[in-house]
Amino acid sequence: MSHSAVSQAAAAVSVSVGNERSLGRSVFKHNNSISFNSKPWSSSLALNQNKTTTMRDAKRYTNTTLCMSVQQASSSKVSVSPIELEHPSDPPLNLYKPKDSYTAKIVSVERVVGPKAPGETCHIVIDHDGNLPYWEGQSYGVIPPGENPKKPGAPHNVRLYSIASTRYGDFFDGKTASLCVRRAVYYDPETGKEDPSKNGVCSNFLCDSKPGDKIQITGPSGKVMLLPENDPNATHIMVATGTGVAPYRGYLRRLFMENVPNYKFGGLAWLFLGVANTDSLLYDDEFSKYLKDHPDNFRFDKALSREEKNKKGGKMYVQDKIEEYSDEIFKLLDNGAHIYFCGLKGMMPGIQDTLKRVAEERGESWDAKLSQLRKNKQWHVEVY
Ligand code: FAD
Repeated sequence: MSHSAVSQAAAAVSVSVGNERSLGRSVFKHNNSISFNSKPWSSSLALNQNKTTTMRDAKRYTNTTLCMSVQQASSSKVSVSPIELEHPSDPPLNLYKPKDSYTAKIVSVERVVGPKAPGETCHIVIDHDGNLPYWEGQSYGVIPPGENPKKPGAPHNVRLYSIASTRYGDFFDGKTASLCVRRAVYYDPETGKEDPSKNGVCSNFLCDSKPGDKIQITGPSGKVMLLPENDPNATHIMVATGTGVAPYRGYLRRLFMENVPNYKFGGLAWLFLGVANTDSLLYDDEFSKYLKDHPDNFRFDKALSREEKNKKGGKMYVQDKIEEYSDEIFKLLDNGAHIYFCGLKGMMPGIQDTLKRVAEERGESWDAKLSQLRKNKQWHVEVY
């Protein structure tokens, strides 16, 4: 390879952030210590720029990156491949079923919350080698290893997890999917002590798994949370508690991080995220970067229930943030905005009550409004 070809390859690889699997560990971790302020996007870029590009790397990325024009290379968005993933008109659905699941491999498992977060949440990257394509907003099913205690001899039931990456995965090559999993831990209500025999089977399996471990996957499933892309200037209001942020992380990478052919987002994405405290914030560095780089197209409001107070002096929940901006939200909904809710089931009653109260204060009927939003397919709920 001539000198100029090598530098061209190096430049191409450096733009294709994280396109190398080994960078997976640098997405959230540096030098084996967890970094909560890491900037996966920019730090990986810096890493890549300093990296010595081997001929093997250069060959591997030839098809996906060398064809980039200089203009694309200087753009801040990341190239994705294979672009055939854009072409199907319908989302992939149930390609693998519980009786015929796909054996995928764990690429990495990273704790993504700080030491003061109550509980543990992990970002898990799974290698499906391109065999289990999905769209943003869909879920994978996971069958944990072992026997179903309720049906001796039979495998465990499938557990669903929202996919937290875009269809191109965290390495932008269409071969991985990422999950955001909270470890389910059981505390005895009388003693207050953890009872490991009652901990959640699948979430613990996922959070304890190691790179290279096999994992049985089903799916993809779900259509409710697909990102409607018919209008690139649409408004998307995304409401999450905890791991409910997973599908939105996928949406936002698609809207702001990836250079997706034929879909240039020029609308508004507004994320409301409710978590316990600052240490529990998920993907905060990615979201903060979008705020900085796309201030006209992205808004981000956090509700930290154990750190902030609402206007009545109570804990600040996500519905309190919604109430704060209710005038704007109602106007946006009236103008066709999509609104999404994802997270624990328990989030919905408080949110619905707030929306109902706000509607009444505005002299509107919430029931009529809700049925109109549903009819217009503006209302998307996936809670668990
Ligand atoms: P299980 O083994 O199923 O146990 C469930 C709960 O019961 C646990 O809290 C466990 O501690 C408790 N328990 C167990 N034994 C006892 C006992 N004897 N007495 C009392 N309690 C007991 N989760 C995520 O973390 N991230 C996601 O993105 C996500 N997306 C989802 C998307 C959808 C569409 C759905 C439906 C669910 C989603 N979930 C997600 C939830 C996920 O599917 C699992 O339900 C969750 O991980 C718990 O599964 P588990 O196998 O760990 O717990």
